[in-house]
Amino acid sequence: MHIVNSRGDKGSPCLKSLCPLNQPKLSTLRFRWLLDNSGYTVRSGYDLIRLKFQEVQWHRYLWCSWCYPKPQFIGWLIAREALKLKDRLYALGIFSDATCLLCGLEDENHSHLFLKCEYSRRILTIMAGLCQVVIPDTNLFLWINGHHASSLQKKVLMSVELATFYHIWMQRNKDRIDDVVLRPEILCCQIRKEVKSRLSTKFKPGLCTPYLNWLNLVRMSM
Ligand SMILES: [Zn+2]
Repeated sequence: MHIVNSRGDKGSPCLKSLCPLNQPKLSTLRFRWLLDNSGYTVRSGYDLIRLKFQEVQWHRYLWCSWCYPKPQFIGWLIAREALKLKDRLYALGIFSDATCLLCGLEDENHSHLFLKCEYSRRILTIMAGLCQVVIPDTNLFLWINGHHASSLQKKVLMSVELATFYHIWMQRNKDRIDDVVLRPEILCCQIRKEVKSRLSTKFKPGLCTPYLNWLNLVRMSM
């Protein structure tokens, strides 16, 4: 990176340290990138050092006000596959096996616990039925984003999904600590109460949307 003073003279950090008396004031310096001679900005500097990944679209539904904060945070960790599940803890030597705590049939990882596990699948299917959708076999975050629905419908679906994930996660932890797990139907009642409470706060009498009938139906079925 060049350092250019207000007169256009080029210097360098090395020169600056060798000739402190001749250095212009910092406010008169302009920084330019060597690569394309474009001006330096904090953003361009940050972009250079950070890792870049493909931008996702589902974040706008995850971080919306239709969802509760705790399910949002757990949902964000699930989307990033950042929860410390048994597959990772087993690899670290903390557990003696990686078997799923809820079904005991397969290894516990993000894909299994929140999509394929018999216990979770039963709950997801019930909740999806209440929203009149069919749960796919793929990543649910990507599915909601690509689902042919309005933005409002996606927010509601994400709210239901996050609440479901959160309660599955809590049941999994409860099972590990207390060795007790609720039946899927009973857990669904808890999830429905939570979702209904959230939808009620967002559902104003004058709400005008072409999907009002669908929203009414979901709210009433919860
Ligand atoms: Zn399982």
